[in-house]
Amino acid sequence: MSQRSVSVGSLGIGGSNPVRVESMLKSPLDNLMACREELRGLASAGCEMVRVAFSDPSKADALAELVSEAEIPLMADIHFNPDLAVLSLKAGVPAIRINPGNMGSPMRLAEILHLARERRAVIRIGANGGSLSDAQLAESGGDRSLALVGAVEAQLKYLLEHGFEDVILSAKSTSIPETVRANALLAERYPYPLHIGITEAGPGLGGIVKNAAGIGILLNQGIGDTIRVSLTAPAEQEVETGYAILNALGIRRKGFDLISCPTCGRKRIDVQALVQRILPALSGLPDGFSVAVMGCEVNGPREAAHADLGISGSPNGFILFSHGRRIAVAGAGNLEDILRETLEKICPKKN
Ligand code: SF4
Repeated sequence: MSQRSVSVGSLGIGGSNPVRVESMLKSPLDNLMACREELRGLASAGCEMVRVAFSDPSKADALAELVSEAEIPLMADIHFNPDLAVLSLKAGVPAIRINPGNMGSPMRLAEILHLARERRAVIRIGANGGSLSDAQLAESGGDRSLALVGAVEAQLKYLLEHGFEDVILSAKSTSIPETVRANALLAERYPYPLHIGITEAGPGLGGIVKNAAGIGILLNQGIGDTIRVSLTAPAEQEVETGYAILNALGIRRKGFDLISCPTCGRKRIDVQALVQRILPALSGLPDGFSVAVMGCEVNGPREAAHADLGISGSPNGFILFSHGRRIAVAGAGNLEDILRETLEKICPKKN
């Protein structure tokens, strides 16, 4: 994780802070109602920071309204127009995403940095594989990772010339190896927090796998301070996937951890159906509490010996176990009741 940290509003990013999960509004500021609804959904899914595309000065009031109502900090995403950077900072956003080299004259950039400093706002700068120019690629000898790093460094230089260091860096592309190498180089060279992700990862399973592989490789190397899963799907799914990646790596726990076996010829129950059946009884379990659903009593309790609570099929119904030890039995008719009673005993923190 990065040596330096920044504060976006009250949200610490980088340093010893937990890896943050962020997303981006998919609704435009023209539709404030839709933005509000999306923001509410994101906040309840656990999203910690939300980027908002700000591309029209006439939407500054809408942005200000959203900032004042939002439970989580907003970052205005701005391309090319210095007026938008000024307007968004005046609207109260605690962070902006700009490329300083595109902010018009040096005087305009100085004005933006002055405002950002005054309002303690953070600036995210970055490079995207899709926007690398021929000149940047030629300079790196065609090495796209190096070109990404070079593009970030070119933007960072503008800020460092002004002594502005409340920055988050990002280098992303659709290629996992390219993104991983670029971020590894940035982490090696700079102390600033890194926003990581794979761009345009696509929809469905393929998109989830691409995000999980790219973000997972980086996080497992200790690289990355805030993540954005990019999916062609509702933004809440990006957040859920982000937490699932952090859970899988054991970096952060959100919600209970559901384990289930893939089943084999020994199975006594339909594990998939049982998972669906018991989910309502599990709601409210604390973060990190692990529940295992296993197909048979022969191997289930042993294979899931680490689980706080396990259920496996048996010739007469179900057995419930905790850390490998049998603690209750249930039949098809009373499973939910026994499950609730057992959870009350072993997990008093539930609800
Ligand atoms: S728990 Fe039982 S049913 Fe599930 S995979 Fe292991 S042996 Fe097969």
